[in-house]
Amino acid sequence: MRTHRTVATAMGLLLSLMLTGCTGSAPSSPPRPSASVPVLGAAALSAQHPGATLSSTASVPSRASGRRASTSAVAHRRPARRSPIAQPIGPTGPSPTSRTVTGAATRRSTAGSAGPTGFVGTMTPIDPGLARRLTYTWHEGCPVPRSALSYLRMTYVDFDGRDHQGEMVVATAVAPQVITAFRQLYDARWPIRRMRLVDDFRGSDDASMAADNTSGFNCRRSTGGTRFSQHSYGRAVDLDPLENPYVGNGQVLPPAGTAFVGRPDVPGVIHDGDAATTAFGSIGWAWGGNWSAPQDFQHFSANGH
Ligand SMILES: [Zn+2]
Repeated sequence: MRTHRTVATAMGLLLSLMLTGCTGSAPSSPPRPSASVPVLGAAALSAQHPGATLSSTASVPSRASGRRASTSAVAHRRPARRSPIAQPIGPTGPSPTSRTVTGAATRRSTAGSAGPTGFVGTMTPIDPGLARRLTYTWHEGCPVPRSALSYLRMTYVDFDGRDHQGEMVVATAVAPQVITAFRQLYDARWPIRRMRLVDDFRGSDDASMAADNTSGFNCRRSTGGTRFSQHSYGRAVDLDPLENPYVGNGQVLPPAGTAFVGRPDVPGVIHDGDAATTAFGSIGWAWGGNWSAPQDFQHFSANGH
């Protein structure tokens, strides 16, 4: 055995020397970006979550032309290299600092404009593991079944200009459009404080807002009302709620958002006609900042409510 092992080791050394000679420069080469695609499919993520069922028809229109890119085609173009987005997700979600993704993918420009961007957006069905995470935001009696929701992971830029992968749940019917809007926000370098499931805040809208958390689905009553909020249908998004508070009924929510009621021209504060209202406007969503009363500066929704 020892002799055989020695021979094998020597042969291995020789082989490795030969290989090194052939590919010696490879390890020092910078990683090349993957084939250019607008949005990555669910395949990469589901590979880590075998229980997930792929939606073979999921697709996302590209920003410039509105053409739709098949996610299955995207998956085939992916290199074998492990994707940062395919890492396992812990039960409480990724920490904002440990999930930084930069340059993970490139976007095909259909308008001739330049550029690779680091945006990655994926949508996956709610698998049993995700269903357990939605304990706080979804319950029996909600106006939509869990099966009508999708889990999104999307790259965003924080207030220091660093990339992160965020999490969000929205209605499957609007998920591709939501990804499109957030890709535009990313390209515009719109700062987002954090993007986590409201379940990480035990379903508390107040806690989520106080943490300046950008979010989507949460089955709850409308603020100051008794009807289901559009968030209960997964058809609304709150963007940077601290900088863009709800103002109405004598309340400012979150209370710390009082500093932004005067709508100062500082990063994260939404103004009509800026990158945020333009991004959501491009998918047909309306902004709660245009309401007369109350004004919900953080709120964008598909039906304008
Ligand atoms: Zn809202």
